[in-house]
Amino acid sequence: MVDTAMTAIIEQENTYTSGVYSKRPVAIVRGSGAVVWDAEGREYIDCMAGHGVANIGHGRSEVASALAAQAQRLVTCSETLYNDVRANLLQRLVSLLPDGLSRVFLCNSGAEAVEGAFKFARLVTGRTNIIATLRGFHGRSMGALSATWEPHYREPFAPLLPGVSHIRYNNLEAAEAAINDQTAAVIVELVQGEGGVHVATQEFITGLARLCRERGALLIVDEIQTGFGRTGSLFASEQYGVQPDILCLAKALGGGVPMGAICLGTRAIESGRIGKGVHGSTFGGNPLACAAALATLDVIEREELPARAARRGAYALERLQAIHSPLIRQVRGKGLLLGIELTKRAQPYLEKLLERGVIALPAGPNVIRLLPPLVITEEQLAHVLDVIEEVLTGGRSEHSTSPLPREESSNDAEAVLLYNMLTIPSYSSQEGALAHYLAEQARTFGLHAYVDEAGNFVASTHAAYGGQTDEAAPETTPIVMLGHMDTVHGNIPVRLEDGILYGRGAVDAKGPLAAFVCATARLAQSGNLARPVIVVGAVEEESATSKGARAVVNRYRPEACVIGEPSGSQGVTIGYKGRLLIHGRVVRPLSHSAGPQQSSNEDATAFWERVRQHAAEWNKQHAGNSPFASLMPSLRSINSQQDGLEEQTSFMIGYRLPPNFDIAELREKLGRWAYEDDIQLSFTGEEATFQTTRTTPLARAFNVAIRATGEQPVFKYKTGTSDMNVVGPTWGQNIVAYGPGDSRLDHTPQEHIRIAEYHHAIDVLERVLRQLAVQGERTR
Ligand SMILES: *Cc1c(COP(=O)(O)O)cnc(C)c1O
Repeated sequence: MVDTAMTAIIEQENTYTSGVYSKRPVAIVRGSGAVVWDAEGREYIDCMAGHGVANIGHGRSEVASALAAQAQRLVTCSETLYNDVRANLLQRLVSLLPDGLSRVFLCNSGAEAVEGAFKFARLVTGRTNIIATLRGFHGRSMGALSATWEPHYREPFAPLLPGVSHIRYNNLEAAEAAINDQTAAVIVELVQGEGGVHVATQEFITGLARLCRERGALLIVDEIQTGFGRTGSLFASEQYGVQPDILCLAKALGGGVPMGAICLGTRAIESGRIGKGVHGSTFGGNPLACAAALATLDVIEREELPARAARRGAYALERLQAIHSPLIRQVRGKGLLLGIELTKRAQPYLEKLLERGVIALPAGPNVIRLLPPLVITEEQLAHVLDVIEEVLTGGRSEHSTSPLPREESSNDAEAVLLYNMLTIPSYSSQEGALAHYLAEQARTFGLHAYVDEAGNFVASTHAAYGGQTDEAAPETTPIVMLGHMDTVHGNIPVRLEDGILYGRGAVDAKGPLAAFVCATARLAQSGNLARPVIVVGAVEEESATSKGARAVVNRYRPEACVIGEPSGSQGVTIGYKGRLLIHGRVVRPLSHSAGPQQSSNEDATAFWERVRQHAAEWNKQHAGNSPFASLMPSLRSINSQQDGLEEQTSFMIGYRLPPNFDIAELREKLGRWAYEDDIQLSFTGEEATFQTTRTTPLARAFNVAIRATGEQPVFKYKTGTSDMNVVGPTWGQNIVAYGPGDSRLDHTPQEHIRIAEYHHAIDVLERVLRQLAVQGERTR
């Protein structure tokens, strides 16, 4: 070996280190973003990121200055005293955690988080046994090691913790057979990182959560590697819609500074058994690590790293899947946790990658794992993929210029936009990540874009409507395309199969919203606009508040408005029914069931019967058989309980209201009945019916545009409500709802959209906008 700065370091370490690590012959001395340098100044793209620690990248000045400032103020402070920085971190973490997790124990590493989780699970359940999974990895300390699967890691240290067993991953039957009344907890990774990059199925995780609940065991989710944006959402749990009883975190939490966390859910907290003195840690919750974690969380949020990981990950997965090589058995992953399973040992290929300046990781003997910092740039990632392709095919990558798919052809970019939108969960009031992703994408599509104070995504052909408030607004009135970003709950794995894209929100309403963005982008490229076009992705349409639409209704006075709701690409919706939600409560003193007095259940159902009969009669007189003109009540929920003194029945009735209906009179009538029967009532979600006609300029433009694509337009009235009910009364009649997708699939587990129909809708919208917004464009 030539004696250089690097070999000197290597010699020195080799002389004094314990010898437990097998090391690669490179000494890294500096890093910035996704790049690190060795002692000789050679540059590498770091797809190891300290085994998934450096999510925010290397050399972050935010973390450095937070550490420096805190080190001068206070480095250490036991948790038996209070501390300002720790208090802030705890509150911040809880605000970001999946629902139900509301208390946190701070520690210093992943293994420690797992150890503590096992202790807590035993305390809470009074049981001893732990179930883990084949290929699972949970750390190397004795307890955590017992749950880790790899026999090489475990066997030399036997006997380990008794009562730990391993079941097959993604095998619900095995779980069904294993979980019993001795089981304190099941521990699982949502993507197995060390064990070969295996992604959990939705059924497995949903099933585990259910079995644990039913059988009194706790579900411990180990997000030590998948947490903090790695898989495309802040926590992978969000994508699975799972509420862990205990969540283990570490790795990326401190931005590189050692820190772990055990997050406790309702079942753990409410057991009341996690009391004073049951656990502790000298360094846990030290102010220095807390300051680093706060700075790290700031960066993750400000730079929208989860959305970035989703996007870059989708691109990388697509490119890896397109590599034709007999060496590749399978490509897997989620976000920027990616695995390439080879038909041979991975080690020689990892060495070739290192020679070419890419540091990647193994995951088991045959898998190359990529765990780059989430801040990796498009160019850096494209370069990594080029090098991987070269190494695995023995040739030059045909992608040597390495553009992302969206730059290759405009049609692909449009489909990629929707695909990526589906990978970012956006339940009502949790639309932040999607809004920021859309704003960034709209800008790359040539639009002006921002996220407004209500959280809505707004994009425009004109700077004045795209967040640049110092620009003067054009004199002509705008066209507003008002879609919504939120979806109902229930994750549907995103996949593209035979031209059909599956995912929650494909139909309601990410498909329509993506089509709005794409059509507006096409229009912006043509220039010469007579009118500005504004696209809004509103928040909280699926909740009765419609917060997003209410925030914009007074901001614009549009010439025309298209609401983003699925109508099928050749359909156009020109009316939505109104709505009224009624919450009722009946309280009665308990009496003997044989007595003459009516029970609260009987009174509640009698009230519902009265509502039903009134509607039937009203419809006979007014509506005939037309569903749009009918008064349609439904009993959405009814629940009763008693406490030994009183019994109580609560119910909710939802009305779908016909046009020109006197809602005040209905409310009064219901109030009177309720008063007579001693029932408490309250009303929410009131919306008047809104309908327009097929002869407005906008409806005509759709008629012409759909015909021009060779299809036959269909105009529809819908029995639900939409943001049309919110903005219609103020914005007037020149309004329709439009979007690709079959609205019968909304809110179902089969939600999907045909890519061809999505492109058709963009074509139709582009033609409509040209008629209404482009100078000198004629109607035909
Ligand atoms: C890394 C890891 C651990 C162990 O964390 P340490 O900080 O190394 O103790 C546990 N679980 C998972 C899933 C990990 O990836």
